[in-house]
Amino acid sequence: MSNEEDTNTMEPQMKRWKGSVCDADSWVAYPVLSDEQSQDVELTEAFAAPIVNKKETSRLVRELNSLYPLNSLPHIKRVRACKAKGSLHPLEVLICLISDAPDMKEVSIDSLLPSDGVKPDGLGELFVVKVPARPPLTRPQFELASQHWPTSFHEDKLVTVALRGERFTPTQKATMHLYMMSALTAAKAGKELGMEAVGAVVVDPKTERIVAVGHDCRGDHPLHHAVMVCIDLVARSQGGGCFCFDRYSACRFTPAASNPSQNVPDSDAGSQPYICTGYDLYVTREPCVMCAMALVHSRIGRVFYGTASLDGALGTKYKIHSQKDLNHRFEVYKGVLSKACEDLSSSDDHNKKDSVQ
Ligand SMILES: [Zn+2]
Repeated sequence: MSNEEDTNTMEPQMKRWKGSVCDADSWVAYPVLSDEQSQDVELTEAFAAPIVNKKETSRLVRELNSLYPLNSLPHIKRVRACKAKGSLHPLEVLICLISDAPDMKEVSIDSLLPSDGVKPDGLGELFVVKVPARPPLTRPQFELASQHWPTSFHEDKLVTVALRGERFTPTQKATMHLYMMSALTAAKAGKELGMEAVGAVVVDPKTERIVAVGHDCRGDHPLHHAVMVCIDLVARSQGGGCFCFDRYSACRFTPAASNPSQNVPDSDAGSQPYICTGYDLYVTREPCVMCAMALVHSRIGRVFYGTASLDGALGTKYKIHSQKDLNHRFEVYKGVLSKACEDLSSSDDHNKKDSVQ
């Protein structure tokens, strides 16, 4: 350990950490994506046929598009190159989805293609193939889908980078590391008082300032989970709030007056931001449903948590943050300081039972 590191101070030393090798290299933040983004590739069956005469391709595609348009599957390409070695034909074409085929006992090219619609010249034997039923939303889905049939993909590069665990720069990670350290410190302070070992920090990413820090206080009240405490402290920083946590020194907030860019209630109610508009939350373990809904209501910007919870509502049991029928959605990342957060959770006796975070 160097002399510099001997300095034992509670104040984050951003300059020293930024750009240097620090513990932030020991964890990776991965995105918690929606079910649609993370589910396996769903397949549907279709009839296809080899194109034995390549010269007929554009006519066949035109006539098939007109007879059997693939309106429900706009991501699917009509023709694929046949890569199999020794294949006698270079291309294969989708005739139609099985669900779109006319009802008949024996299906053949001739029965699927009325003579006045598509001339079957140039087509080989009919076969059944599975094609992706939905457009791929992520690169992993795209790669899996493409193994079945060529598929178009509108890539969200940020999601691709996030899935590789490379969404944040080393400098950003060093800052995130410090915020989660503050949450861990608060969690330990709460635990000392007999509360569950959970800590939460709300920060303003624009100014990189901590707005509020809270820990679990359910010894006082069953609903005072760390996230609820933290949101109430943010409200207090803006002149609101319902509760008083002044007797807990680790629960604190930065008054709005000392942070000019903080969400200050406006005299014009229409322009007043929600409590957590534009803010990020760092919490040692995945929030429960109640806390996740409170984060929706307060319009949190992003949530970072260290470790998953059995009843977690941001990835484990539910994905409240990606719920289409809720009026606010936000990004969630897990894994920040995962080891320290896991150790904290597993050291928490309450958590070993079916306790809700
Ligand atoms: Zn909770």
